[in-house]
Amino acid sequence: MKFLSYWHDTAPAFAGAAQGSVEGHYDVAVIGGGFTGLAAARQLAKAGAKVVVLEAERVGWGASGRNGGHLNNGLAHSYLAAKAELGKERAIALYKALDDSIDTIEALIAEEGIDCSFRRAGKLKLASKPQHFDAIARNFEAVNAEVDADTALLTAEDLKQEIGSPFHGAMLSKKSAMMHMGRYVVGLAEAAKRHGATIFEHAAVTESRQAGSRHHLRTARGSVTSDAVLVATGAYTPSTFGYFRRRIIAVGSFIIATRPLTEAEIAATMPGNRTCVTSMNIGNYFRLSPDNRLIFGGRARFSARSDQRSDAKSGAILKASLAEIFPQLANVEIDYCWGGLVDMTKDRFPRAGYHDGVWYAMGYSGHGAQLSTHLGMIMADAILDRPDRNPLKGLEWPAVPGHFGKPWFLPIVGMYYKMLDRIQ
Ligand SMILES: Cc1cc2nc3c(=O)[nH]c(=O)nc-3n(C[C@H](O)[C@H](O)[C@H](O)COP(=O)(O)OP(=O)(O)OC[C@H]3O[C@@H](n4cnc5c(N)ncnc54)[C@H](O)[C@@H]3O)c2cc1C
Repeated sequence: MKFLSYWHDTAPAFAGAAQGSVEGHYDVAVIGGGFTGLAAARQLAKAGAKVVVLEAERVGWGASGRNGGHLNNGLAHSYLAAKAELGKERAIALYKALDDSIDTIEALIAEEGIDCSFRRAGKLKLASKPQHFDAIARNFEAVNAEVDADTALLTAEDLKQEIGSPFHGAMLSKKSAMMHMGRYVVGLAEAAKRHGATIFEHAAVTESRQAGSRHHLRTARGSVTSDAVLVATGAYTPSTFGYFRRRIIAVGSFIIATRPLTEAEIAATMPGNRTCVTSMNIGNYFRLSPDNRLIFGGRARFSARSDQRSDAKSGAILKASLAEIFPQLANVEIDYCWGGLVDMTKDRFPRAGYHDGVWYAMGYSGHGAQLSTHLGMIMADAILDRPDRNPLKGLEWPAVPGHFGKPWFLPIVGMYYKMLDRIQ
């Protein structure tokens, strides 16, 4: 078994990184080379801006190269919960932004000729308990009537042709998609470079300061200045950006990938070949890879770490959950095990805007594989002074009380959700 992201292992390396020392003056400096930063850089460069991306590790090293590969429409919350918290207008705008994100990615892939197995697979939100189906059905009624008619409610009987596991019904969102995340992120970086962006890898920003209208960014390989800065560091935001560190809670999420399944195994487990998410608080998400592996993820443990030891512990829990959902695969070989950090906010709504001289987009709370490309482009448009399309504009973002970067409270939150899963 490899302790490595399947997406990293099966994508070509990005060969276009700038060599030599980090120097020069740019219109915009983008910090972070994940989907948010690269999509913004491409959009800015396309408009003729002189743009530099500074990435601490490699392009797609963070969550963008480690996720479950679900491009789902729909928020981290049920639509009904989002409506109750944000009001109908903002909830609809946000829901539509997720829909638009998938269209944006589909159009970008076509425009740039990125070969990443994009497919409108549809998503199943699976009811793990009978009472969960009632809540899913209530949410479906509102979603279908108010924001997304491209949805359907499936009974347990309907589900038999979708999935080889006894769930209690599901909501199907037909617009949702999937793709090869590693090939996409490398394709996005190549596109940004083709349009003129300069991309430095292994160039962590260790100091950021502003003097007048000019930003100064220092890395171990040299420094740049810029007129504008976009912070796109997600869950990996370091203490250099303390304002964001106090607002982003980095939570581990973990994934295992099986060997390629045979046709008979697919027919017995995932005949619908959609993205699937269970309804438990500490639930699971799974899909097939382009080469038919089952990519099976979940929170597994409430840990703020993802390293080989932590990933292996979580991998063992995930293997047990996989066997529970699909006893047919209890003994299947696991080829990959990895983890990554998710950029949660306290209310699980993302944030994008302008604070204290810098632009930012982050806090996708596990729903950023699609929204990050879209918001990256929207923030680029804001920097370019184009009409403002930011669906999060003006949403307050208080710091998490008592949080200064290390989420010491995660085990308590984990225990709370475990208890909810027992009683709800
Ligand atoms: C295990 C896992 C599963 C997930 N599954 C899904 C899913 O199925 N569907 C979904 O919608 N979302 C999912 N997500 C979330 C999704 O992957 C993220 O929301 C999205 O990739 C965020 O992209 P980003 O560009 O904002 O951040 P990232 O991809 O994390 O990029 C941030 C980058 O900033 C760099 N960086 C940090 N500090 C510095 C610095 N000082 N200087 C320079 N660079 C720096 C990091 O190295 C990193 O590459 C998942 C996340 C994880 C971890």
